[in-house]
Amino acid sequence: MTTRIDCCSAPASAGPVNAWIVGDEEEVIVIDPGSDTAGLLEAVGDREVLAVICTHGHAAHVAAALEVAERDEAPVALHPKDRSLWREAHPGEDADIEMEDGGVFEVADVRLEVIYAPGHTPGSVCLYCEDLGAVFTGHVMLADGPAPEDGEYPDFAEQLNAIGEYLLTLPADTRVLPGHGQETTIAMAEKQFDSWVAAGPVRGG
Ligand SMILES: [Zn+2]
Ligand SMILES: [Zn+2]
Repeated sequence: MTTRIDCCSAPASAGPVNAWIVGDEEEVIVIDPGSDTAGLLEAVGDREVLAVICTHGHAAHVAAALEVAERDEAPVALHPKDRSLWREAHPGEDADIEMEDGGVFEVADVRLEVIYAPGHTPGSVCLYCEDLGAVFTGHVMLADGPAPEDGEYPDFAEQLNAIGEYLLTLPADTRVLPGHGQETTIAMAEKQFDSWVAAGPVRGG
C-alpha cells in the first residue's frame, strides 16, 4: 500500500492547526485545511485534490477550505449542522457535500468513513480509515482529552458521550490524528477517559 498520511501544521491563534493529507502519488483528500493555503498546496504538490473535508465549522480549521478546493475544482464537505459556523468564516458560501454518519470517501486505495460525533459543535465529525488504522478526530478529541473552544466546552456531556460511543469503540491500536497537537491511540485515550470525565468541563485551553 502506497497510501500515506501527511500532517501540515500551520500557526493559528489557538495553537497550530493540524491539516491532514491522505493519499498516494496521484491523488489526495485534505482534512481540515486550516488557514495556510500556500503551505498546504505545497505539501500536496502536483497530486490531485479529490475533496476537502472539514471535521467541523470553526474558522481556524476551515479558513483555507475554498481556496484549497478551488485549485482542482474539488468539492468541500461539511456536516450541515455546522453550516452557520462555517458561514462565519465564509459568508455567502456553502460547502458542496453535506456529510452524514456512515458516508464514505475514497482516495487512492483507501476509504474514509464519516463518524458523526456532535458535542464540540452540532456538526462535528471524525473520519475513520480502517485501511490505514487511523481516525481523524478534529476537535472531538485531542491527545489530552476533549478539545475546548476558547477555553470552553459548548456541550461537554455530549462531546464525552461521542468519544465514549464512537471513538473508544474503535480498535485499540487505531492512531488518533487530532486537529491540534500530538497524535495518540484509542488505547491511550481509553486509559485516560475516566480522568477526563472526573475533571469535568473545567480545563482551560
Ligand atoms: Zn473547534
Ligand atoms: Zn482548533
